[in-house]
Amino acid sequence: IIATGIPGHTEITTCAYCGVGCGFRAEMRGNTVVRMTPWKDGKANEGHACVKGRFAFGYATHPDRITTPMIRDSIDQPWRVVSWDEAVTFAAQRFRQIQSEYGRNSIGAISSSRCTNEEVYLVQKLVRAGFGNNNIDTCARVCHSPTGYGLKTTLGESAGTQTFASVDEADVILVMGANPTEAHPVFGSRLKRRLRQGAQLIVIDPRKIELVDAPHIRADYHLPVNPGANVAVLNALAHVILTENLQDQAFIDQRCEADAFKEWCEFIRAAHNSPEALADATGVDPQALRAAARLYANAGNAAIYYGLGVTEHSQGSTAVMGIANLAMLTGNLGREGVGVNPLRGQNNVQGACDMGSFPHELPGYRHLMDAATRAIFEDDWHVELDPEPGMRIPNMFDAAVDGEFRGLYCQGEDVAQSDPNTQHVQAALRSLDCLVVQDIFLNETAKFAHVFLPGASFLEKDGTFINAERRISRVRKVMPSLSGKADWEATLAFANALGCEMSYEHPAQIMDEIARLTPAFAGVSYALLDEQGSVQWPCNASSPKGTPTMHVDSFVRGQGYFAVTEYVPTDERANRRFPLLLTTGRILSQYNVGAQTRRTDNTLWHQEDLLEIHAHDAQERGIDDGDWVGIQSRTGSTVLRAAISSRVKPGVVYTTFHHPLSGTNVVTTENSDWATNCPEYKVTAVQASKVSEP
Ligand code: SF4
Repeated sequence: IIATGIPGHTEITTCAYCGVGCGFRAEMRGNTVVRMTPWKDGKANEGHACVKGRFAFGYATHPDRITTPMIRDSIDQPWRVVSWDEAVTFAAQRFRQIQSEYGRNSIGAISSSRCTNEEVYLVQKLVRAGFGNNNIDTCARVCHSPTGYGLKTTLGESAGTQTFASVDEADVILVMGANPTEAHPVFGSRLKRRLRQGAQLIVIDPRKIELVDAPHIRADYHLPVNPGANVAVLNALAHVILTENLQDQAFIDQRCEADAFKEWCEFIRAAHNSPEALADATGVDPQALRAAARLYANAGNAAIYYGLGVTEHSQGSTAVMGIANLAMLTGNLGREGVGVNPLRGQNNVQGACDMGSFPHELPGYRHLMDAATRAIFEDDWHVELDPEPGMRIPNMFDAAVDGEFRGLYCQGEDVAQSDPNTQHVQAALRSLDCLVVQDIFLNETAKFAHVFLPGASFLEKDGTFINAERRISRVRKVMPSLSGKADWEATLAFANALGCEMSYEHPAQIMDEIARLTPAFAGVSYALLDEQGSVQWPCNASSPKGTPTMHVDSFVRGQGYFAVTEYVPTDERANRRFPLLLTTGRILSQYNVGAQTRRTDNTLWHQEDLLEIHAHDAQERGIDDGDWVGIQSRTGSTVLRAAISSRVKPGVVYTTFHHPLSGTNVVTTENSDWATNCPEYKVTAVQASKVSEP
């Protein structure tokens, strides 16, 4: 094994899977990666890695890789291999034709959290400067958009507050709607180490996740909340803290808006928010909830970690605000060992949001409708920007079905598999006059594409990723791009074919532009990243080496804002026809829709998505372990193999979503978060019945 990359580059890079963002050393034989070993100086992982990351290089050279551009006139025709020039010219002509027939807003783009910040930045720039609209969205729409909304509203910044290392100082750890040992394994191990050192643990989750009863660890309290009732639990916890006078009044008086706190207090103190009054809704024993509230409030340092089990609900944004309220109420912000910590799913979902991938925000979460902000970008890009926010992903799909939205550039996202209500998504994609898919594989979405632009894996390009703790880390090219272009170069070619002239020689220049235009990134450069290893934003004149802990002396918004969080039950209720509530999650060896992990040796450990069902519900339906089970919801049906499990309680069933054959999203609904349209993946009323075969 020769430990060297392409001449002029080092071999240290960053894992392209989950939001932990582990540093890795790619060990090469010639141009081929033969082993990935965790980087001991990586600040997010300190020499550790999980099984996914260690095998992550396998998919880069998988025979399924598509390495040549392809086009076709319609989706029932075979693909035709063409040159890069022909592919981007074909796509550009179709997009311009669509706009001339249907108007400027008839096209848009989806950027990818699996691509680098520089690549995401270019896509949103192409949309705003080249398409002339703001129809740009990203997969955060379907995962952590409520985090962005909820944390911005309450604290002033759309990001987690701490470093991962901060957990080493926590005395009480509250994990809500997250499963760190499966979905964020390196951080999960660190959290377990802290628990073995004596920190106490509260788990709020419909399912008994591994942390509840892992060897040598026991959660002090597991509150098995009914799917859809997170806000009720959070309100009840706050009710106990307030009515028992356990709040940190000095912190609140000094750091938070007094009028908002007063209004919120009146709301939370009301009898209808007591654990007893909410017990039917939450499904949680009021005494256990009271004890958990006291444990959290009385801790020296209490830290909250949460995941998609919080955000992917019709009240996802409300729940995020409820979490921030709890942290402010108890003074658990602004120092080590505390905070509000979203565990981001994809490696660069934080970065994709930071880079201006939302239809209403320019890079750095600055609202598009602010003329002064727009002027900064207009001066630099030499264009006039449309001040009207564009379409979110679900709006694009609805408009496509209605015939108003006709062209989509989809960078590195498999929306046909990952987005809810598959039938609706497929109908939308089928309606498009031109779908450009840029990916490393012919994924489910590519079945509806007219242009396929071959993408590059993280091993084939330079750039940066930003993990869940706001840490900007370098991605380094260790092997040549199999298609001849990195994704940023493909976007550049498409932009220039459209007449939107852009010129960059290297992603470092794109980062320089991001730094020039975005105050939180003003101090970021490749030179700094090479010197420091990584930095956490904000990184600028006030914090030239980055910011490990946010909101230290005051909140980014000035004073903290207690948002009133009324619990509104979801429309998705169990009834006689659909008596079970289905919720979803991840497994250690797989990553999201599995497009990458299924093409590595990880597949050896996990070959199908299973339906966890409680013995009581299984017995009622004559289902035995390993039987095929038909799942029917209001939107669709699928078949999964049963795994009888005490991890779920009666009335709740659970599955993972890593395999296209099981098509979990065929049954999920179109319900979504009231503020951000994040889909309600975590609550689907279903019926389950034994079937003879899939
Ligand atoms: Fe680290 Fe996540 Fe990659 Fe595992 S999948 S190595 S925890 S970044």
